[in-house]
Amino acid sequence: MATVLDLKMGEPRLKTSWVWAYFDVKTLPDGETVACCKTCGKTFKHGGSTSNLINHLAKTHKVFRPENYNNGNGNGKRSSGEQQPPIPPPQQSYSNHSNTANYALDPLSINNLTLHPLEFLFGTWRGQGKGKFTGINDFVYGEEIQISPDEAGRGWLYYRQRTWNPARNDMNFHSESGYIRCPGMGSKVELVLAQPTGIASVEEGQIEGTTVSLRSTNIARSSTAKPPHVTEYTRVLSVNTDTNQLTYTFSMSTQEKPMEDHLFATLIKVS
Ligand SMILES: [Zn+2]
Repeated sequence: MATVLDLKMGEPRLKTSWVWAYFDVKTLPDGETVACCKTCGKTFKHGGSTSNLINHLAKTHKVFRPENYNNGNGNGKRSSGEQQPPIPPPQQSYSNHSNTANYALDPLSINNLTLHPLEFLFGTWRGQGKGKFTGINDFVYGEEIQISPDEAGRGWLYYRQRTWNPARNDMNFHSESGYIRCPGMGSKVELVLAQPTGIASVEEGQIEGTTVSLRSTNIARSSTAKPPHVTEYTRVLSVNTDTNQLTYTFSMSTQEKPMEDHLFATLIKVS
């Protein structure tokens, strides 16, 4: 692992955060030391936390912490004990969604910046959907979904969704929020959601191209969540990057009804 000397400390100390593969430490004419981004040249106050550097890499360059990085504590384990998805090193490109198992660890290579495997989902998406299910009237709804990466560059995404009823003054229909996880930053995806109706769920699936297919693996309910209870569901999100359209289908089974198509929506990327 590449290291540089911490120039700010009175005695030399190894700099071990992975971010130092992307920053040079420079001393300005006035004696101040700064961290200088090797990619864009932006400088940051040097010393203390590296979180502003990590934020810069994640937001500006879509670079995230490499997989198996040992945080410099010498035992190969993450010092914080956080449950973080391992993230591949910078030169791994996800443009072909290839298997990530056999990459060479070279964090100094910054020519080929890492793209998040779900970058095609980043943004705010807005549009309309149609719903149907045996036993209920067909309905239409407006919807907005916001998906954005964790600012600290840990690889997971914020997911926030709400729908409204155009037939009733755009009153809120349904909302759910949670996190999209990308364990291994490969093709596997997990979506962890909470709903105000007392339901929490976990779904898991795969990325193929710009399509994400998910199936529920766990659905939990509070004691007052209203029946009929959904027993299983599938969700397929697909992005057309030429037209900036996100379409999804959602199918479900309930305690009373077998698996059936329930929702279909087309959303446009608005920001
Ligand atoms: Zn930069």
